[in-house]
Amino acid sequence: MARQLLQHCKKCGAWTLQRDCPHCDGIANAAAPIKWSPEDQRANIRRKMYDVESPEWLTTLPNLKTITESRKAIFEEE
Ligand SMILES: [Zn+2]
Repeated sequence: MARQLLQHCKKCGAWTLQRDCPHCDGIANAAAPIKWSPEDQRANIRRKMYDVESPEWLTTLPNLKTITESRKAIFEEE
């Protein structure tokens, strides 16, 4: 499926909603890039859903090993 509805023929420049141009035998591509926003529009909803202010949520986060544990693991492999 095409990324967006409006397509633009590369060969004759016609506008269409199909991937194959109805005016010539050219291939039509998306007329413009997809709209995209770096802002997370649903961040508030997501934070409420995961209850990020609760202390229980903190325990679900992944933890790194301490530096001592990491060094120990490296030296034991060798
Ligand atoms: Zn065309």
